Amino acid sequence: MGGTVAELYEIKDDEGIVLEVLGPDDEPAGDGGGVTAGETPSDTEPDTQPDTGVVEEPAEPTDAPDVVPQAAPSIASRASWGARYPNGDLTLSGPAVEVFVHHSVTAQLSPDASIAAEAEQMRALESVGQSRFGTGISYNVVIFPSGRAYQGVSWNRRGTHTGGRNSTSRSICFAGNYEVNQPTAAQISTAAAIFGAGKGRWWTRSAPLAGHRDVSQTACPGRYLYARIDDIRTGSGSTPPSPGEPGRVAVDGFWGTATTRRLQQELGTTVDGVVSSQSVAWRDSNPGLTTGWQWVADAQGSRVIAALQRRIGMDSGQRDGKIGPRTIRALQGYLGTPVDGVISRESRAVMALQRRLNDGRV
Ligand SMILES: [Zn+2]
Repeated sequence: MGGTVAELYEIKDDEGIVLEVLGPDDEPAGDGGGVTAGETPSDTEPDTQPDTGVVEEPAEPTDAPDVVPQAAPSIASRASWGARYPNGDLTLSGPAVEVFVHHSVTAQLSPDASIAAEAEQMRALESVGQSRFGTGISYNVVIFPSGRAYQGVSWNRRGTHTGGRNSTSRSICFAGNYEVNQPTAAQISTAAAIFGAGKGRWWTRSAPLAGHRDVSQTACPGRYLYARIDDIRTGSGSTPPSPGEPGRVAVDGFWGTATTRRLQQELGTTVDGVVSSQSVAWRDSNPGLTTGWQWVADAQGSRVIAALQRRIGMDSGQRDGKIGPRTIRALQGYLGTPVDGVISRESRAVMALQRRLNDGRV
């Protein structure tokens, strides 16, 4: 506290691309009528809520009191994950005028990770912010692939998420690296709910939602998450179907989480909307494979693709659970669409698959 806090914290990939950069605003803590860091120990704004993951109440008046905000999504309190360090460096007056989407570039937990594992990641994130800036965790809220959200620095306290704009903006952070991973449908859904709930409450009703990269030299929040900001803003496609309840999928030729969920229901594998452990070598040549595909260097294959390979009649020795030219050709042949071994945008094969899913006859 009170030490030098001017330097930035950068996370780079192997090629030197800045995946995330965190930093404070220029003005020192204490400007703007806030409570200064020097005066305030970490419990200036003590967590008074029980350790039950309840929603942290907004502390600021709204700029549109006549509008009833949406029901707030559940956001686990700071106490629930064991926050140990300062809650930002000062109290902000009034709602934010901008909201930024970030990614943390920390561990990529699975959608079925435990709450304990997520809490551990929160404490790790907090340690980073504390060691670099002395002000605890950098982001306002952190959303994991499970769709669960955790309060970081409180909505009315200043963090170190969007250097130069921390006093006027708030941050929605996805835990993990979305330059190389797809956000889950559950994450998008939670983020959309939070963005909607915060209007006229934590930020002005007209506050734009943007990516960190729109205002800083960084890839943050990663290309796959950046591509979903419109979905978060509008809330479109953000309501996941109830588990086990068959729903119709859009026949749009893009194979994302909704199509995978229906396929998993149809084939009897775990319904999570995720196609796990697929070879990253096939990612760019198949732009019709969108959300929920886990692209990795050392692919192990997924159960839903193995089940699909079986359904479409591939030999047992070829059922490796991996999408690729051979499996796509077999699928295209099975569906009666042109056989070229790739899933393009608005793919005819995917449309045929989606029609069959809606008809219950894969
Ligand atoms: Zn960022």
